[in-house]
Amino acid sequence: MRKLVSFLVFAFIALFSCRTRQVDRPKIVVGIVIDQMRWDYLYRYNSRFGNDGFRRLLKDGFECRNTFINYLPSYTGPGHACIYTGSVPSMNGIAGNEWTDNVTGIDHYCVDDSTVKITGDHQDGTSMSPANLLTTTITDELRLATNFKSRVYGVALKDRASILPAGHLANAAYWYNDKTGNFVSSTYYKNPTPNWLAEFNRRREGDELVKQGWDLLYDKESYTQSTADDNSYEGAFDWEAKPVFPRRFDTLSVRTRNGLIKSIPAGNTFSIKMAKACIEGEQLGRGDETDFITLSLSSTDYVGHRFGPNSIEMEDTYLRLDRDIADFLKYLDHRFGRNHYLVFLTADHGGAHNPHFLTDNKVPAGLQTEATTAKLNASAREVFGVDSLVMVNENYQVSLNESAVSKATFDRETIRASIVEWLRNMDGISYVIDMEHLDRTPVPEPIRTMAVNGYNRNRSGSILIIPSPGWFDNGGKPTGTTHGTWNPYDTHIPLLWYGWHIQKGNTSEKVYMTDIAPTLADLLSIQMPNGCIGASKLNLMKK
Ligand SMILES: [Zn+2]
Repeated sequence: MRKLVSFLVFAFIALFSCRTRQVDRPKIVVGIVIDQMRWDYLYRYNSRFGNDGFRRLLKDGFECRNTFINYLPSYTGPGHACIYTGSVPSMNGIAGNEWTDNVTGIDHYCVDDSTVKITGDHQDGTSMSPANLLTTTITDELRLATNFKSRVYGVALKDRASILPAGHLANAAYWYNDKTGNFVSSTYYKNPTPNWLAEFNRRREGDELVKQGWDLLYDKESYTQSTADDNSYEGAFDWEAKPVFPRRFDTLSVRTRNGLIKSIPAGNTFSIKMAKACIEGEQLGRGDETDFITLSLSSTDYVGHRFGPNSIEMEDTYLRLDRDIADFLKYLDHRFGRNHYLVFLTADHGGAHNPHFLTDNKVPAGLQTEATTAKLNASAREVFGVDSLVMVNENYQVSLNESAVSKATFDRETIRASIVEWLRNMDGISYVIDMEHLDRTPVPEPIRTMAVNGYNRNRSGSILIIPSPGWFDNGGKPTGTTHGTWNPYDTHIPLLWYGWHIQKGNTSEKVYMTDIAPTLADLLSIQMPNGCIGASKLNLMKK
């Protein structure tokens, strides 16, 4: 009898534990994307990092040292979409931050959706959703794999950096409204305004951070990775005579301060505070199934665009980010226990050096300013006698206005060939690819494959401009920097894995951004996203 009882007790326990956690998985996955972080920043600023931030990830985690974006253009929307879908613009549809639909001629923002409303704020207005994303994300697949028991949340200052990672099936995505200083969401999600969010917004912690101003963490002289503070390569804030430290913001209006947080390192600190509020408010990592939070840190991108990668502002931003990462890892340790959470850290794209900084140092570079829609249309009017032949030139892609083309007395092929030829003769352009005749364009790898992967027939321009190395189109702006090209400075990104089931080590094998989602699928034993073209790299990460 006693034997029978103990057998029944054992059977009950076995059945119960089987029901709670059938597959070995972590309590929570934390995806961290640093906006505009080039791979080499892990090392460039390393000597000034502390031991508990990036260095901890490098020392105790696994680093894929040669991780590359494998499509064009290298912008934020496509980057976040690719990381989480394992797919490319050709298939996942996120062809740029913005695009013009080739059929309707309507301009789109990558997460626009006129059918949903903004929530979490006392403002009316349309909101955003992942409706333009055409494939599933790894976060969607986790929800599907657990019959929706896993919970998924997205947090970022930028809407697209929150919505695209969290996917179609997210419980919610939250982003920052820089008019009101609140984190907001969308009626797209089932319960977008929980009490904890209203409470978080009421605390106005972001504004408190901005009011502290921005001075350097250390003595100015100790910033050895940068040009002197006052130089002509940096843009200043609107109210500044010169782009220099220290900076005081407490005298600015609340409205200005609300908008400012994105552009200073405090934006990263604030985003991490919001991620913690979400983890606690939703009790993530405490359920029977693995939860997933996607966190994108966007301030690095705004700082890079304004000041460029050789600025003291950039160096200080990364030293501060290192402290924020250290703080967040310590928090995750306490909340979930070491090795019970899985972290990956990567970037949506990198960034170029400022071209004037390069030419002043005798490196070939420049601002591409000739290839404007107006200039192309002026040439077209002169040669073909038709107005507005070029619809748009954005994302380094030219779209033609097909109804204007059909009105011209010249045939379509002649017109296209002429436009390609005009572009080829402009300064700072290496190649011009007519995507309808890719086979006729001698263009080396990896550009060829990146062009194909990035070309979405409905959403991309069919004439693709490849700027020369060191050159970019920044709307003529001489200061700061940008990104978007195929070159290593825009596409070589960090990829660090840390925590649950991750062994220490690194690999120099080439890994693509599209491999991140399938590697996660392998780690979690779930299905890959439905447009995934990458492959799991878990074999590289095992000794
Ligand atoms: Zn950017």
